[in-house]
Amino acid sequence: MKYCDWCNLSEDDKQFQVYESSLWSVFLSDEQDYIGRCILVLKRHCGSMSEMTDDEWEELRRLVCEVETCLKTVLGATLCNWSCLMNSFYKESDPDPHLHIHLRPRYDKPVMINGNTYIDSEFGHHYAVNKSGSIPAEDKEEVSDLLKEWLNR
Ligand SMILES: [Zn+2]
Repeated sequence: MKYCDWCNLSEDDKQFQVYESSLWSVFLSDEQDYIGRCILVLKRHCGSMSEMTDDEWEELRRLVCEVETCLKTVLGATLCNWSCLMNSFYKESDPDPHLHIHLRPRYDKPVMINGNTYIDSEFGHHYAVNKSGSIPAEDKEEVSDLLKEWLNR
């Protein structure tokens, strides 16, 4: 196996880890195009969902319920879009993907964080792929703290 960034996350990367179970980690994404967007990363180096073990599926099932409930409760998400894409690994000639799952919460009404308003203007449609994902650092910290607190309650 070649060097994998996902197997070697730095303390800096882990700053926005909002939850950790025995087989999975949950991070608030750098991209906040949909406020509260998260990424679930399997701790084991594994390239696809079809190679997941029963224990990994079982824990994922629990996390899907837990994180969805968290986003609905804390941020008022209406539903969640889950996707396992892995495409960027395949830009390389010798791909060695590390399984992760994107979670984009979707909202039928605006979300207020520190006085800033976040609107899901594509609600009811596929998520946009070219929407800006940068938000003020203090808003990202606030969202991270809210999710951390709820998930580790
Ligand atoms: Zn890896």
